[in-house]
Amino acid sequence: MSHTLSLYRMQQTDSQIGKVHSRLEEIKKLLENDDVLRAASMLAEAAGIRVDEMEASMQQAEATVQRQRIKIEQAEASLYGGTVRNPKELQDLENDVAALKRHMSLLEDRLLEAMQASENAQANRGMTFQSLTNAQEQAAQLDTALHQEQMELLKDLQRLEAEKKAISGSVPENILVAYDNLRQQRRGLAVTRILDQNCEACGATLTPAQQQIARSASQTLNCPSCGRIVYGN
Ligand SMILES: [Zn+2]
Repeated sequence: MSHTLSLYRMQQTDSQIGKVHSRLEEIKKLLENDDVLRAASMLAEAAGIRVDEMEASMQQAEATVQRQRIKIEQAEASLYGGTVRNPKELQDLENDVAALKRHMSLLEDRLLEAMQASENAQANRGMTFQSLTNAQEQAAQLDTALHQEQMELLKDLQRLEAEKKAISGSVPENILVAYDNLRQQRRGLAVTRILDQNCEACGATLTPAQQQIARSASQTLNCPSCGRIVYGN
């Protein structure tokens, strides 16, 4: 195998190794990302607080209705108890009872509203808890799938590194160094092919003599324009 063919294959392997590394990096970020879970958990917590608040308002409204009921009972007891006989005082008491009852109707409406709000808050809490449970289940499933993929990628990586080692064993050290330098300078593409008389990477035209060097097993051609090693396939 010519050195340039070896380098060309090594570049393919390196490119696969690069892809595996970027996917592993993505998986690491995905595994660390708990935004969805945190958001669902915050919603559930807020819904729980809302339920407590609505229950407290409902109890307050109940207590207010209860106090008003006692006031009405006391006013009615005075009105019908027989102790008050003065007609003017009796008239005043009757007016008081009527006013207390009118206000009572308002307080009862408020209590009904508070009960409704409390029920709504409970229903909403139920939904947010369900969403949280779903999010937890989905996160667990995703975690399992990602860990599985991670393990497979690590195996791929081992295989690819072994392949790379096998290839690099057949290439002289100075050519490997040149390859590594070119890869760094040329964004991972150190080896190029001839495509219709041109360098596939930069498009520069290669003379027939240059193409012949690229195809020879003993010599190495660097593209006169981009400097990449030309693999004469
Ligand atoms: Zn070129």
